Amino acid sequence: MSIAVYPGSFDPITLGHLNIIRRASRVFDQLYVCVMVNSEKSPMFSLEERMDFIKRATERFPNVKAEYSSELLVRYAKSKGASCIVKGLRAITDFEMEFQMALTNKKLEPDIETLFLTADEKYSYLSSSVVKEMAKYGADLTHFLPHEIIEDIVKKTQYGGKR
Ligand code: ADP
Repeated sequence: MSIAVYPGSFDPITLGHLNIIRRASRVFDQLYVCVMVNSEKSPMFSLEERMDFIKRATERFPNVKAEYSSELLVRYAKSKGASCIVKGLRAITDFEMEFQMALTNKKLEPDIETLFLTADEKYSYLSSSVVKEMAKYGADLTHFLPHEIIEDIVKKTQYGGKR
């Protein structure tokens, strides 16, 4: 069975992420979408919320499972029996960081490959931070977010995370 991990902050999951998930779920038998705990970022949504958003947006993909981890990524991937880490590449700006991460992970765990999927051009401009900014100003989010989670994101950003 081919198993892969798609890691990220997913704060929150966007249509760009979902596009990568849909495509990777066709390549692998099992895909773990893993919210990684990153001590350098202060997320707007809690781990549980981010996982819940992923679960709701990916319900139609039977071979996709949402999880979270504070472990080293390659260790988490190994514990899942994954042979591959999937990443989405939006532009040159993503490349340098992703290249460095891929080589580091390869050094730590030579058996695990990193597979890059190019962002769909429709979503190549999209990031979670842009969406959060748009949400604050009441923009229409239908072009950015999975429909299952829009209402929750609007509520949370409108009330400054107080509800
Ligand atoms: P962000 O940069 O939006 O905070 P994450 O840290 O959650 O994103 O990203 C997780 C993975 O998804 C990374 O590999 C990132 O390059 C990829 N990704 C993010 N947004 C998109 C998009 N719009 N299209 C394709 N891949 C994306």
